[in-house]
Amino acid sequence: MLRRGVAVSPGVVVGVAYCIHEVFVDPRGKPLEEQELLQELEAFDQAVEKAAADLRALYDKVASQVGSQEAEIFHAHEAILHDPAFLHKVREHITQHRTTAQGALHHVLNEYTSLFARTKDDFLKERLADLRDVIVRLSGHLSQVIKQGPAALGGEPLVVVADELLPSHAITLGGCEVSGIVTQRGGPTSHAAILARSRGIPAVTGVRDILRQVKTGDRIIVDGREGVVVLAPDPESEAAYRKLQREFVHRQHQLAENRDQPARTADGVELELLANVNGLGDLEQARAVGAAGVGLYRTEYLFLTHPSVPSEAEQLENYRRMILATPRHRITIRTLDIGGDKTIPYLGHRGEANPFLGWRSIRLSFEHPEFFQKQIRAVLQAAAVQTNPPACVQLMFPMVTIVEEMQRLRALVRRCQRQLRAEGKEQGPVQIGMMVEVPAAAINIDAFLPLVDFVSIGSNDLVQYLMAADRDNPKVSHLCQPLSPAVLRVLHHLIRTCLRAGKPVSLCGEMAGSPRGFLLLLGMGLRSFSMSPSFIPLNKRLASAVTTGQAAQIAQRALELRTGRQIRRFLAQQIHALCPDVEILDVE
Ligand code: PEP
Ligand code: MG
Repeated sequence: MLRRGVAVSPGVVVGVAYCIHEVFVDPRGKPLEEQELLQELEAFDQAVEKAAADLRALYDKVASQVGSQEAEIFHAHEAILHDPAFLHKVREHITQHRTTAQGALHHVLNEYTSLFARTKDDFLKERLADLRDVIVRLSGHLSQVIKQGPAALGGEPLVVVADELLPSHAITLGGCEVSGIVTQRGGPTSHAAILARSRGIPAVTGVRDILRQVKTGDRIIVDGREGVVVLAPDPESEAAYRKLQREFVHRQHQLAENRDQPARTADGVELELLANVNGLGDLEQARAVGAAGVGLYRTEYLFLTHPSVPSEAEQLENYRRMILATPRHRITIRTLDIGGDKTIPYLGHRGEANPFLGWRSIRLSFEHPEFFQKQIRAVLQAAAVQTNPPACVQLMFPMVTIVEEMQRLRALVRRCQRQLRAEGKEQGPVQIGMMVEVPAAAINIDAFLPLVDFVSIGSNDLVQYLMAADRDNPKVSHLCQPLSPAVLRVLHHLIRTCLRAGKPVSLCGEMAGSPRGFLLLLGMGLRSFSMSPSFIPLNKRLASAVTTGQAAQIAQRALELRTGRQIRRFLAQQIHALCPDVEILDVE
C-alpha cells in the first residue's frame, strides 16, 4: 500500500517499522484467555506504579531546580494517573473486552478525544493534552519493543513511525541508529524534519493515520524525496527501491568527495557554506562534508536533552567544546529558542492558544533572566578559548520583532560583560547579531542594522509568518512554501538592504539547503549560507556549475513570476540544465 505525505528529508530506505507511541495504534488481537487477562491487569498496575515514580522524580527535580510552581504540572499528571474513574475505565475495558492494557489505553484515549473534541473550553482542551501525556507515558512502560530496544527487530534498518517526533526524542534516537522517519504530523520545517535532515535520514511527515496501518516489525519503505511511504511492499517494488537506495548513497558519497575543495561559483566567487547543528554530535558530520564553520547552533537541544537546567559552568564547557570542535572555530551560537513547537517542562511553559505567536524565544528568555544571563555569560567566557586560527564567535538572538528588543539585548550583553570584568573572569570578543524571522523585522530591517554586527535570515519562521501557515501543519504545507512570490520579494528587500549597508548577511533556514532555494539566494546576492550538513556537498557542486551572473539572471526571472508553482518549476528546470546530478538529492 502506498501512502503520501510531505517530503522533508531526501533519501530512500527499505526497513522495518518501529512505532513509538504504540498507544495510537489500534491493537485488535484475539480475545485474551483468563490467565493472560490477569497478567494484563498486573502489567497495567505495574505501569501505573512506574509512571507515578517517573512523575514524582520529575516533580522533585524541577521543584528543586526551578520552583515548585513550575513543577506543579507533574503533580497534576500524577492526579490524573491515580484518578479512580480513569483507572476503573481502563481496567473495565481490559476485562470486558478481553483486550491488552495497551488496547484499553488506546480505546480510552479515543473516547476522551472525541468527548473533548466538541468542547470550546481551552481549559478542558489542556486537560486533554495532560491526559494524553499520561496515557503515552503509561503506554511507554507497557511497550515490549521499548523495553527490549530496537535489537528486537533483528538488525534490519529501523524506520521510526510516530505521531510526531518531539525534540526530546533526539536522545532516544541517538542511541538506536534510525534509518528512516515517518510521522503523522509535522511539516518540512518541523523539528522532526530538521533533525532528520541534520543526520541525513530520509523522512516523510504528515502521513495521516499511518499508525493505524502499520505496527512495529512490519516492512516499510520511506522515499523522502517524493514524500512516499510504502507499506508491505511487493518484491518488485522492494527491489526497485533498493536500487534507488544504492544510487542515492553512491551519489552522496561521490559528492562528499568535494569536501576539501573551496566553495566557489563557476566564475570564482568564494562562498561560505556553513552547517546548522544541534550539538557536538552533529559536528562530526559538519567536518566530514567540509563545512566552513557553524552558521547556527540551536542551543535549545542542550536544554531539551539535559536532565535538568544546565548551569553556567556546564554551558560554558559545552560552548567551549563546540568552538574547539567546529571547523575553523567559526560558530554562531543562538540563544535559547524555546516555545512554538519546543517546550521545556522545567521552564513551566504550558500550552497556549497560538504558541508560535506567543511566548517564545527571547520573549520568554527576557522573563527568565536567571537562564538568559547565564547563557550570555557562558558564551562570552567560552569565546576566550585559545584556538588556531583565532575563534570567531557570534552570538545570535532569535525572534527579534521590534527595535526596542534589540536595544534591550545589547544592554543585556553589556551588563554581562561588565559583570564578568568585575568578577575578574576572562571573556572573548563576540559579534552580536539578530535572526530575521518575523515579517515586522524584515520590513523594517534598516532600523535594526545600526544595532547589529550581522544578520541571519530564519526563513523557516519568516515563511510561516508571512504566509500565515503553520510550519508544522501538513494541511497547510502547500502554503508554507519559501518559493512563493511574496517570500521572494521580502527576501530580496532584506538581502539588498543588508548588502547596501555593508552588513554581513546569511540565511540559516532550511531553504538554504534546497538546491532551488540555494540557487535563488545566490542570485539575490547572498554569499553566506547555513544548512543541514548533509546538503553542503550538493550545493557546493551546484555552485561550481553556475556563474554569479547566471544566478542573478535566474533570480531576476523568478522575481517576475506570479505563482509559486511557476517559480518552483522554473528553478527546477534551471537546475536540470545546469547540474542534473544534484536532482536525485533534492526534495520535491
Ligand atoms: C528559522 O526559523 O529559519 C530557523 C533557522 O530557526 P528554527 O528552525 O530553529 O526556528
Ligand atoms: Mg526560527
